This record gives sequence, C-alpha cells and structure tokens, in this order.
Amino acid sequence: MTARIPAPRILLIQDDPDGANNICGALASASGGSFEVEWVRQLSAGLERLVKKGIDAILLELPPPDSRSLLTFDKLYAATPDIPILILGGNDNEALAKEAVARGAQDYLLPGHLDDFSLSRAVRNAIERKAAADALYLERERAEVTLNSIGDAVLCTDISGEVTYLNLVAETMTGWCREEATGKPLAEVFRIIDGVSRKTARNPMEMAVEQNRTVGLTVNCVLVRRDGFESSIEDSAAPIHDRAGRVIGAVIVFHDVSAARAMSIQMTHSAQHDLLTSLPNRLLLNDRITQSIAVARRQKKHVAIIFLDLDRLQYINDSLGHAIGDELLQSVSKRLLGSVRSSDTVSRQGGDEFVILLSELARPEDAATSAQKLLHSLSAPHLLGGHDLHIDGSIGISIYPADGSDAEMLIKAADTAMHHAKEHGRNNFQFFKPDMNLKAVERQSLEGGLRCALERKEFLLHYQPKVNLLTGEISGAEALIRWQQPDRGLVPPTQFVPIAEDCGLILPIGRWVLREACRQARAWQDAGLPLLPIAVNVSAVEFRDKGFVEGVRTILSETGLPARYLELELTEGVLMEDAESAAAVLLELKAMGVRLAVDDFGTGYSSLSYLRKFPIDALKIDKSFIHQDTADPDESTIVRAVIAMGQSLRLRVVAEGVETLEELMVLQGLDCDEAQGFYFSQPVAAAQFADLLQRGTADVFIH
Ligand code: C2E
Ligand code: MG
Ligand code: MG
Repeated sequence: MTARIPAPRILLIQDDPDGANNICGALASASGGSFEVEWVRQLSAGLERLVKKGIDAILLELPPPDSRSLLTFDKLYAATPDIPILILGGNDNEALAKEAVARGAQDYLLPGHLDDFSLSRAVRNAIERKAAADALYLERERAEVTLNSIGDAVLCTDISGEVTYLNLVAETMTGWCREEATGKPLAEVFRIIDGVSRKTARNPMEMAVEQNRTVGLTVNCVLVRRDGFESSIEDSAAPIHDRAGRVIGAVIVFHDVSAARAMSIQMTHSAQHDLLTSLPNRLLLNDRITQSIAVARRQKKHVAIIFLDLDRLQYINDSLGHAIGDELLQSVSKRLLGSVRSSDTVSRQGGDEFVILLSELARPEDAATSAQKLLHSLSAPHLLGGHDLHIDGSIGISIYPADGSDAEMLIKAADTAMHHAKEHGRNNFQFFKPDMNLKAVERQSLEGGLRCALERKEFLLHYQPKVNLLTGEISGAEALIRWQQPDRGLVPPTQFVPIAEDCGLILPIGRWVLREACRQARAWQDAGLPLLPIAVNVSAVEFRDKGFVEGVRTILSETGLPARYLELELTEGVLMEDAESAAAVLLELKAMGVRLAVDDFGTGYSSLSYLRKFPIDALKIDKSFIHQDTADPDESTIVRAVIAMGQSLRLRVVAEGVETLEELMVLQGLDCDEAQGFYFSQPVAAAQFADLLQRGTADVFIH
C-alpha cells in the first residue's frame, strides 16, 4: 500500500473570474498530478487565508501597471517569504512581472503560457525550487554555525591555493578577516614556521592536494599571526573534492596548543626539579649520574658524589619559622651552585640534604677540593629576614668506580660517609671507606641500645677535677657521661652523644646528667667536702630546647643545689649560630645565678664582639691547642692570644687536656687561671672523686 501524497494546495489571487476559472481548470486536470486550488479575488482575502497555513504556492495576478501594482506583491511577499509566489502577468506588463521576480517572486507566467502543461509545470517547479533553496540555506546555515562554534580554526582554499573561507577562530588566530583574506594566497594568510629551526613550514594544502588525503602537519608548528604574535599549533589538512571526485581545494583545521605545550614543558620540569629551590631532584640526579658513569667508563675517568647534610636547619625552622628556613635553603642552593662547575649537578634530595654530582673527575682527590669549596661557600652568614644566620654542613664523598657502580650505591656510600663526618664534629668532609658500612650497622645497634639505656640505668657520671694554677687546689669538677653497655663495656660519650643528638634522645639523657650532677654536688656538700662548682656539658640540641631554662630551674630546686655551684659548658657553635636568641637564654640562666663557660674554645669561629655580648664566666681552650702549641713553645700563639683575650674580657681561662708537665709549665708561664687534664687526673667515678677532694690537692697535683 502506498501512502497517498496530498495534492499541492495553491492559492490563486485573481480578480477576473474567467481567468481564475481557466487556471483552476488547468491545474485540476494537470497531467503530472492534480492541484487543489483556492481562489480569492482580493489581496486582503488572500492574506487572511494565508494565516490559516497549508498553502504550497501562490499564483498572484498583478493588477494593471500603476503606482500600486508592485506594492501588492511586496505586501504578500513580506507576509509569506517561505511560500513561492508565481506572478501572472499580462502581455502588457512583463516588465512589471520581471521586477517582481527581482524582488523575490519565483517566476512569472504570461497569458500565452497558461495551458495545462506549462502552468502545472511552472507551479510544480516553483514549489520544488523553493524547497531546494530552503534546504540549501539550512545546510549552509548549519555549516556556518557549526564552523563558528567549534574551538578549532578552519580555513579553506581553492585548487589554486587561494583562501576561500575562514571561520571565526581562524580569523582570530591568523589576524585576517574573511573578507580581506578571501582570494589571498594561503601562505600570506596562514604563515607557519618550524618552532625549532624557524624556517617556513611546508604548505599543508599542497601536501593534502598532492597526496590526496588528510595529512597531519609538522610537529612544533608555530603560526605567525598577521601582527607577528606566535602561537604553537597542531593542525591537519584535507583535500576537498567535487562531485566527480576531482580535488578542488583543501580544508585546514588547526588549534592553539601553546598552553598545552607550555604545560607539558612545565610538567616535565616539575617532575624533575625540587619545587623550593628549582634544583634537579632525585629523579633527574639519578639520570645524570647514570650518564656520567657511562662517560667516565669510556674515558677512564672518575665521578664523585658529594652528600651534604646541613647541620642546624631544624633548629632554624623551629626558632625562626619555616619561611626563613625555606629562604635559607634557597640561599644555600645558590651558594652551592656558585661553587661548582656548570657541568656538575647540584640536586636537593629533600629536607636539609643536597647531593652534588661531580662529573669527569681526573683524580678522586679533586673531590676534596670541591667539598672544601662547598663548605666554605656556606660558612659566610646568610642575611635573611634581618637575621645573620650561620649554617654549616657535613659532607660525605663517594667515588665511581671505587665505591659503587650505580647511582644508588654511590649515593648510599656518600650518605654513610656523611654520617661519619657528622660524628667527626660536623662542618667537615669524609671520603667513604668500606669499613664505614660496618660502622653504619654499628651505629644502628648503638641507637637501639640507647633507647632503653636510661630505663635500664646504664648511664653513670665520671668527674674530672679542674685545678687552680695559682694555688694548686681543685677548683671545680666536670661531669662527663659514660654508658655502661652490657655487651660493650664502658662506651665514651664521643661514640653515643652525637647519635643521641640526632635521634632526640639527648633531651632525656641531658636531663638525667644535670639532675645526677646536681644531686651529687649537693651530696658532697652535705658530706662536708669543700664547696665546688660542678660543670655539666650541654649540647646544642638541649640548649635550643624551649624547656631548657625551666628544666635547669626545676632541677636546681629539686636537688637543693645553689645555682652558683652549677656551671654549664656550651660550645662556640651553639652560641654563634643564632647569637641573639642564645644571648637571651644565657641572660635568663645568668639571672638565675648559674655560671657559664665556652667549651672547646678555638675550634669554632667565635667573634670577639659576640663573646662580649654574652654573660660568660669562663673560656675553656680546646685540648688540641694545648698539645699543638706547647709542643713547640714558639708556637703557643693561639693559647697566648686566648689567654690574653680572656683576661681582657675578665673571663676565667681554663686549659683542657693538659697531659704533661711541660704543657702545665707553659700555661703557668702564660698566667692561665685553671687547667684540667690527665696530668692531674683522669675523669673518675664519684667515690674516687670524693677521695681526691678529701685528700686535699697541692701535694697530689703540683709537682
Ligand atoms: P669536653 O666537654 O671537652 O670534655 C673533655 C674531654 O676531654 C673528656 O672526654 C675528657 O675525658 C677528655 N680529657 C680530659 N683530660 C684529657 C687529657 O689530658 N687528654 C685528652 N686527650 N683528653 C682529655 P670525654 O669524657 O670522652 O667526653 C668527650 C666529649 O663528650 C666532651 O668533651 C663533651 O663534649 C661530651 N660530653 C661528655 N659528657 C657529656 C654530657 O653529659 N652531655 C653532653 N651533652 N656531652 C657530653
Ligand atoms: Mg666540657
Ligand atoms: Mg672541651
């Protein structure tokens, strides 16, 4: 069963009834299928009928030519621009009919063409043509809207390579508007270059036409806008064919990838660099080490890995805040970068750790020079946020091929060596040695043991006398911690204090030492022994602890030891590092009545003007100077200078590590106030020390 297509409905507007009859008849019996005709005599009636819809075409008889005849048409056309209008003209007004066609009518028919066949054909053609034109218009409109609403730029050319079309995005990106661009050669409107070589890139349209297929364009393609602005683009070109399959032009589609390209460059950078310092991170460093090893292997050279750990960053973070800590890290990275060759890599491993790769090293010893330089570069104060910050580092060095064959092994060896440097009093460097691995294991086991040593009461104090060089009397005692370790025996503090400092255990251990020393001093006093000040060593970590001053106060009151019988020994580094807050803490202690001494004097870099600021009572000259200087009396300059300086600042000067009579005599000659050392006595247990005190002194010590 076929669906019946309704006959086209025609509205005939004609005043003359005879003519109208003729036309109705002709259309009703048309051979190609009949029409339904509705006839009205007046335009006004026609307009009314049109409101009700359903009309497929209009036949309009033009009135005899006069000033209003075209007005009739215009009114009708304005009311129904979608319905085709055919003009029925008289022989005498063909010109008028033509004018109506120019204004929008589909066609006109003269009286001679009103036979069945011509009329019905003309009407049918008009309906079809109108439908086709509408469809085409819609199609165009759809294409135009689509092309202007997509994010891609679209540009078309004809076969001769002249621009025929640009959508809005293409207009913006090329800087050409469609009117101006149309007819211009493609190369003028679409200027593309290779982003790397900056040479003109190949004309994409030519390629598409030549290969007759869609082609992707040059990688790294850069579009140069009419005003010179450049953007990275990604694009493709496709040929356009006519119905016969012949190529008649090309479409180029492109879009801006500048942001994406910038983002991918940025992503690669951040994946390989440390955010804070912009230095290469572990990932990139590993790559570089691997490359350097490959080169060194071929050229029979060495590679050095320098592991640097900053010594007091945590303290700066805690006391001055992380913002200053961050700035310090940035300042440190600049100094490090400034002290290596550009072919070397300075990387940050995170926290306060940096790893420096020295490539193509002729001799392993050269790494020592670099390490020295790096340490030196850090040593000048960093002026940040109004503070003069001092920071130093400990360095471990490993060498390819001796200490490892890949990045991981070399970094691990350098790390191990760095820990040894720390144990050697910081601010120095150590080359990796195979037995360090053993020591690393040892260190682990010591740390494990330390954790329960307090609980198990494995610590004890030994006391070493200080002697007044004028009178020969014992003028004080220094408490020195010992660890009675079940498997190892008596462990000296140099072996475990640095570990305890690193893992924070020094805080409870230090409290214990202070309490035990004060308790002992008070007990000796209560036993009627001579009243002597007791000296206790305070490590940097303890001194910086916020609760330190209060801890001292509590312990003094708990043990009942008057504050003037307690002397705290601090090293230079502790004081110099953050002189201002150190001075504040010292003043609090001083106000309490506690005595203060600078230990190991001469090993750090004290500034005299700073020392003056501190409420200090005594300087203890480091034992290394006593041995060195007194071995050759002419070289006793440092000792001489320190004693003179101490005297000028009205400080007591104590010489540490006096082992021989010669040393003692030199010191006496220089008017040193006090001395301490094996020459007088080893550090001894409390009971033995009580014996020393009881026996009196002069005959025992002064020979
Ligand atoms: P220090 O405060 O400079 O202590 C002096 C060190 O020199 C002691 O070593 C002592 O035994 C040693 N000594 C004394 N006379 C002589 C001598 O004539 N010749 C030589 N070569 N050495 C002599 P010790 O007891 O091994 O302590 C080493 C360091 O450990 C101390 O140096 C101090 O910095 C630290 N220390 C000791 N006890 C404690 C403590 O309770 N707390 C903290 N934080 N550190 C401590
Ligand atoms: Mg000491
Ligand atoms: Mg000392």
